[in-house]
Amino acid sequence: MKVHNFFAGPAILPQEVLVEASSSALRYQNGLSLMEMSHRSKPIADVFEEAESLIAELLGIGDEHKVLFLTGGASSQFYMIPMNILGADQTAGYIDTGTWSTKAIKEAKLFGKVEVLASSKDKNFTYIPKDYLIPDHLRYLHITSNNTIVGTQMSKFDKVNVPLVCDMSSDIFSRAFDASQFDVIYAGAQKNLGPSGVTLAIVKKDVVGKMERDIPTMLNYETHIKKDSMFNTPPTFPVYVCLLTLRWLKANGGVAGMEKRNQAKADLLYGEIDRNPLFYGTTAVEDRSKMNVCFLLNDDQHNDAFLAMATEANCVGIKGHRSVGGFRASTYNAMDINSVQVLVDVMKRFEEKYG
Ligand SMILES: *Cc1c(COP(=O)(O)O)cnc(C)c1O
Repeated sequence: MKVHNFFAGPAILPQEVLVEASSSALRYQNGLSLMEMSHRSKPIADVFEEAESLIAELLGIGDEHKVLFLTGGASSQFYMIPMNILGADQTAGYIDTGTWSTKAIKEAKLFGKVEVLASSKDKNFTYIPKDYLIPDHLRYLHITSNNTIVGTQMSKFDKVNVPLVCDMSSDIFSRAFDASQFDVIYAGAQKNLGPSGVTLAIVKKDVVGKMERDIPTMLNYETHIKKDSMFNTPPTFPVYVCLLTLRWLKANGGVAGMEKRNQAKADLLYGEIDRNPLFYGTTAVEDRSKMNVCFLLNDDQHNDAFLAMATEANCVGIKGHRSVGGFRASTYNAMDINSVQVLVDVMKRFEEKYG
């Protein structure tokens, strides 16, 4: 029976991708497992080249940016970005929208000055701050496009007066956007792109190589740009699985196709949360995430009963993050709307029983 995977990350991957990855794990092209092959071999070089060019194609990225496959997770980008592009006497602006941006702020302070321009901490990060001023002197403005834990998302990226840096870990490739105004876009792969173990960074080439500080070779974007992500042994198998996901994405309408798909799933699930008198959404309606849908029961004594009912319907991973409680259903690109319908049906049955 099909399992409906609502986990926040590592998360659902398209079934076709898993099937092909399994086969390549055993035998790839020349008879070796893909995992056994040298990163200097032609087949692996081809994997990296195609993955890089598909990312550029799907996001509409031109020559001014470089696509990098790194390690260390999005968490390592929290320090790698200021280390590479924020001078000790320069100031970066940060918007504090939850756990991840709070961590990014902490790391940036190790390298330069930080101004937190806005925060939604006053309401447990349940909304996206708006209408803040962005001083012209900022080296960059750091934003988090989708807040995986609390379930808020920036509905769009406004044009701003300074370069943007964005943590897109949990919504990259989920919608169309203009990448040109970003100095750095980064994402751990394990939410919406592939398995854990690889981190995507899209870096504007002309922003690197300008720091006075000494940067360790492995932490220097320049190293990885020059060596096409092959300075040392990269995570070959995770990048390969990303490539399979990217091919799947393209075959399913690219980011525009995903945007439609994700909108339909969000409409269905939030529609039920708003309709069903037993449940309520936890975030400001206009800032609701289309990737991580957080909701609570009015009567939280029934939490376990609802979880049990969902589990019985093979819906897994809907327990909310410990900082929010209740439930969180992650509906990343690879999730089919039929799986969301299964969860909605559980909510309706739950209403019949407990309403
Ligand atoms: C999961 C996540 C992170 C942390 O990613 P790691 O790859 O585990 O370091 C950072 N930011 C956001 C928005 C996330 O969802």
